[in-house]
Amino acid sequence: MALMITDDCINCDVCEPECPNGAISPGEEIYRIDPNSCTECVGHYDTPQCVEVCPVDCIPKNPDRVESKESLYEKYLALTRKTG
Ligand code: SF4
Ligand code: SF4
Repeated sequence: MALMITDDCINCDVCEPECPNGAISPGEEIYRIDPNSCTECVGHYDTPQCVEVCPVDCIPKNPDRVESKESLYEKYLALTRKTG
């Protein structure tokens, strides 16, 4: 699954630079995760880095984007191919 940021986000900005896929960006009101770019950090790290650093625990799994570890890894491969 991709992860998502909930309304509890306090815009602290610590997660954005931690994302190895550049999937996190400031939205209009709170930060957001592009589900097409989030691999749950599969391929880069053992654990989701944004979840590790978020001070208010507002980054759950996105129920609309259920993905297996295998498909997350495929996404990682596709993303790294694209960005070189
Ligand atoms: S789980 Fe990893 S890839 Fe997904 S948004 Fe968080 S830091 Fe980025
Ligand atoms: S770390 Fe958490 S609270 Fe801070 S900007 Fe990211 S999602 Fe929002």
